[in-house]
Amino acid sequence: MTVTVPRPVEAPAAPAPPPARPEHSRQEADNVAGISQEEWVDLVAARSGPTSITGPFDKVHAFWLAGMSCDGCSIAVLGATAPKVEDLLTGTLPGLPVVSLHHTALQLESGDAFVEPMRRAVEGTLGAPYVVIYEGSIADERLAAATGGYWSAIGEEHDPQTGESKSVPSAEWLRRLAPGAAAVFAIGTCATWGGIPAAYGNVTGSMSVMDFLGKDYRSALGLNVVNVPGCSPIGDNFTETIATVLQFLQGLGPLPEFDDLGRPAWLFSETVHRNCVRAGYYEEGTFAHQAGDRECLVEIGCWGPVVQCNITSRGAINHLGGCMNVGGACIGCTMPGFPDKFTPFYKAPPGTFVSGSASKLLGSFVRPLRRITQRDRNREPRWDQTGQVPSGWGAPAEVTLLDRGMDFFYNRLRRRGAGGTTGRAG
Ligand code: SF4
Ligand code: SF4
Repeated sequence: MTVTVPRPVEAPAAPAPPPARPEHSRQEADNVAGISQEEWVDLVAARSGPTSITGPFDKVHAFWLAGMSCDGCSIAVLGATAPKVEDLLTGTLPGLPVVSLHHTALQLESGDAFVEPMRRAVEGTLGAPYVVIYEGSIADERLAAATGGYWSAIGEEHDPQTGESKSVPSAEWLRRLAPGAAAVFAIGTCATWGGIPAAYGNVTGSMSVMDFLGKDYRSALGLNVVNVPGCSPIGDNFTETIATVLQFLQGLGPLPEFDDLGRPAWLFSETVHRNCVRAGYYEEGTFAHQAGDRECLVEIGCWGPVVQCNITSRGAINHLGGCMNVGGACIGCTMPGFPDKFTPFYKAPPGTFVSGSASKLLGSFVRPLRRITQRDRNREPRWDQTGQVPSGWGAPAEVTLLDRGMDFFYNRLRRRGAGGTTGRAG
């Protein structure tokens, strides 16, 4: 049987053309969205309304500059969940301004229109405060310029000396933008301490943002460089730091606490080891011999006892993952000495000989005692009385005379000084 599909009598009318939009800034012509980023941010800020914007600023520009970077920091921040990047870009966090993010991969505009807001920021005609975020280390551009090149650059401008266009190094943008910025954030270990590009050999003369700007640098808010290290950093660490500084900018909170090296103190004061899921193994003196073992990883190269990083408590993304949670030893990626002072990554840190030996010695006494107590706490008092464990799952160990004797003394100690009855057992 043939099924005939009825045809429409008339072809559907062509969709009406979109209503004419008002004349916009020159960025509009350069992006595919048909609206400039600035217009979009203004729209979002206006929609947020007076109930959510309670500080003096309804928007803040964030210029994200990339130096000698692998873009891993950008990827890490895109995965942040507390707060999310989207929350910052849409002004949904109470009291915080909408963030107009100028990022080479995320901005709506490209080409000259991308660079235009940075030029206005340098001139002081941006009309809103701005912060600078620097990802990657800063190479010595003089080395590249000597042969007519550059290491990392954003945009081009006319060179009056040659009469030609030349690329503008991102380090040059940092130099121009830093004095007027409300704050300069270095994200990731390359930007905070130099990182891998500045490792042994360092043919590019790479350095950190604080090395580049110098000890006397202060932002327009009077801040030194804010450092959020990690290779890659935890995205939440960065978005949370940005949010707290924006709160300060809005007059809604105190200046967050930073340590001597400009790290957010509440995020980087604890060592990895103190919150590590394997710390109990260390304390009992049991150590992994190879990757994949469940015990403490210190003898196969973990530097957690001396490294300041909160990944063990915060996880990598959305409180999940994180180095030793998934079997990786800490190689110190958040630390100024990374990587040179932590290599070779597969060898135990020298200090392990002392602390690890002490743990092994203590653990050899503590572990057997704990196993005895554990075995006892794994029995109901009724099973002690009847001498039977009604479990079909296996054959629990018999209660020996030694067990009963130890149990007697252990329970006496347990209840000593407590007064009254603390349980029917013992
Ligand atoms: S794996 Fe590293 S951080 Fe975890 S307990 Fe061992 S030494 Fe400490
Ligand atoms: S635990 Fe160590 S290697 Fe892992 S992120 Fe933290 S500092 Fe880096």
